Amino acid sequence: MQLWNPADMPKTILIREVGMRDGLQQEKFVVPTNQKIDLINSLNLTGLQAIEVTSFVHPDFVPQLSDAEQVLRGIQRKDSVSYEALVPNEKGLARAQDTDVDEVIFVVSASDEHNLANVKQTRKQSLLALEKIAEKKKDCKVKVTVGTAFGCPFVGEVSYEWVYEIIKTSWELGVHEVFLADTTGMANPRSVYERVSQVRLDFPEISLGLHFHDTRGMGLSNVLAGLQAGVSVYDSSLGGIGGCPFAPGATGNIATEDLVHMVEEMGIHTGVNLPELLKVSKKLQDILGRELPGHILKAGPAFPGSHEKDQRELS
Ligand code: ZN
Repeated sequence: MQLWNPADMPKTILIREVGMRDGLQQEKFVVPTNQKIDLINSLNLTGLQAIEVTSFVHPDFVPQLSDAEQVLRGIQRKDSVSYEALVPNEKGLARAQDTDVDEVIFVVSASDEHNLANVKQTRKQSLLALEKIAEKKKDCKVKVTVGTAFGCPFVGEVSYEWVYEIIKTSWELGVHEVFLADTTGMANPRSVYERVSQVRLDFPEISLGLHFHDTRGMGLSNVLAGLQAGVSVYDSSLGGIGGCPFAPGATGNIATEDLVHMVEEMGIHTGVNLPELLKVSKKLQDILGRELPGHILKAGPAFPGSHEKDQRELS
């Protein structure tokens, strides 16, 4: 019998929970600040090591996240967890630096059309803003997410050159951690494998993460392609919340519990306790008052007993 043992597959992955930012920003119901704080405090107990807690975007732009400072100041911090936030510009960075955020994320879409729709700037203008952010950041680390890295809802195919330009500029500005985001769910396992392999070849020293949306049902397949290409950092959101403003009704980010479940069943460690995580997803489902898209939240783990070991390790 041939055993499953792909050579480049990581043994451990790091999951960044982005539901509190990428997920909630698409939700119409504005979650009260104390409930956001409670959700993040509950996430602290799951073993997750990175949580994107909010965005310092202008409050008029995303009212859901207008309580960024209160959330960051209100949570109980755990040393093993990195608390991160999105900053759209210098002003956002200044606000973030008034809190004790650990890392900030700056998003530039590979396609100009999407970047203009998203932040009203061309890619070049956003890269100039990144330069300012890289200059002015104090203690917090800066990460860059390349949006629409695998396809754009406005122009379709996204040239590798556009992605390359953003990563190269980021690297030159001292940003050593970059995420490729499939913002509107246009990637497929082949495009993921090929694009990721090219980035790894061109930027062997950069730390690369992947951010998938399950808009067209390819989210976890794309994770598998990312694993096969050797990537060990993934974004996902609790319950699979989120959505896509350009595809109404479409599902959101890949669900964190689905991701944990899949890779743990494959023997890849996440450090995340699935039963604890499911409790938090359930709590979020109750707050939002609707069924969330995550599969494991509905069906439960395939082999519930196999996750009890993680439970013991955590306690
Ligand atoms: Zn996203």
